[in-house]
Amino acid sequence: MESSNIEQQLQQFESQQREQLGLNQVPIHWHDAALQTEPFDKNRHTVLFGSLTHAHDQLLLATLKGCGYRVEALPTPDMNGLQRGKEFGNRGQCNPTYFTVGNLVHYLQTLCEQQGLTAEQVVRDYAFVTASTCGPCRFGMYVTEYRKALRDAGFDGFRVMSFQTEGAVDNEPLGFPISKRLTLALLRAVVIGDVINALGYRMRPYEISEGETDQAQAESMGLIASAIAQGKGLGKALARSKALFNRVELNLLQAKPKVSIIGEFWAMTTEGEGNYQLQRFLESEGAECEVQPIAAWFLYLIWAERASHAEATRAGQYSAWAGRFQQLKLRLVERMLKGYFQHISKKLGMDYYKLSDMDQLAKTSEAYYPTQLRGGEGHMEVGKLIQSFRDKKHHLVLSVKPFGCMPSSGVSDGIQPLVTAHYPEANFLAVETSGDGAVNVYSRVQMALFRARKSAESEYQTQLQQHQVDEEQLKKNRRQARYFPHHVAGTAANAVAFLSAQK
Ligand code: SF4
Repeated sequence: MESSNIEQQLQQFESQQREQLGLNQVPIHWHDAALQTEPFDKNRHTVLFGSLTHAHDQLLLATLKGCGYRVEALPTPDMNGLQRGKEFGNRGQCNPTYFTVGNLVHYLQTLCEQQGLTAEQVVRDYAFVTASTCGPCRFGMYVTEYRKALRDAGFDGFRVMSFQTEGAVDNEPLGFPISKRLTLALLRAVVIGDVINALGYRMRPYEISEGETDQAQAESMGLIASAIAQGKGLGKALARSKALFNRVELNLLQAKPKVSIIGEFWAMTTEGEGNYQLQRFLESEGAECEVQPIAAWFLYLIWAERASHAEATRAGQYSAWAGRFQQLKLRLVERMLKGYFQHISKKLGMDYYKLSDMDQLAKTSEAYYPTQLRGGEGHMEVGKLIQSFRDKKHHLVLSVKPFGCMPSSGVSDGIQPLVTAHYPEANFLAVETSGDGAVNVYSRVQMALFRARKSAESEYQTQLQQHQVDEEQLKKNRRQARYFPHHVAGTAANAVAFLSAQK
């Protein structure tokens, strides 16, 4: 049989099959058409937002209130959110998408149930604002995912607005109007939230009376939030907050394992069921946690912008002069952010705390992970793991990878095993957060903590011997310092080095 004949028969067969299966119709794809025709009205719309930590959400809420917005912060996403996310979201999303999207749906449903509002009233009077990006992971699809789930949950047309992490604003003039002044005010709230959280993580494990740190955090947040909302200067509120933290009595001379929580941004930051309340679980097991501040994420974004510009300049897209100018501008922004972080840290009494150096982090990780790859935490996870053990910063590194997360799973399962093969002393554990399986995660963490505790204890004893100090004597001399210059991983061991030099 001639080949042209075979081709003809095949084409005929294909057309028959297409006809039978209905594939000749024009496909109807999902179309994100929920764009409003009326501009956002700050006097009518109540802005909803949330899903960072409690401190950040409260301070951002105060900032927006201070700028004249009607605003409500969503509660920390929980299992109700996960359930709604799975019910109304697309299949195959990553865990943070389910939690955060479902959390909004749940909040709106609760508004209807508790306040007797109809879905039409909610759609008319409320709006949601969130960050987004055009990255290679699902973060780029969040806004569409919100709109799809809201439509299926009966809130079709609900206004979801995004400001992109690259600085662009979605759908202007109909979207959320974010001025330079508002951006700076929001950044201020983020930095203060970071410092308050870091103080809590540092102090809680060592407090003498349980609950005092939480109380100091809550009271200081109240003071600062009220000053922000009333548009007052923050000097007094910060000074009174520092005094509140200073009043908490600590015993820092306890060898506790220091655990770095790394991994996907939302999963390591949230304080709820999205990561099985990992921070509180670790503290209940006698560990001290360190979680990346959100300011470090901004530093990464600035670094990525610098790297992209350098690449574009090399490729001849910008003149050498324009490229240099851009680098200087970004360096200046980076310095200002770091400087402001240090300023707030000092005001609240958190000394010797340093934000990561992004250039060093990139250099540390480049042998294992191409730094040009974006998405998720990029190369940061790799760099942080290496620095943790090479530079003696932590006794255990826990990587939280959400179920269904492409970048984080790729790094935790693909790259980190190679890193740990080269750094056999690294105590590293990757845990997957799927919403269920908490018992399994807790028991794996407990096993890793056993080794971390031993390292912390032996490091502490070594410091006591090296400095030839009597522990009891040191306890009498201890001061209310919370952060000490870094020598080794443990807080107690660093305290020994620092306090013995002060004798
Ligand atoms: S980094 Fe992972 S978990 Fe986070 S949005 Fe992207 S795919 Fe989802």
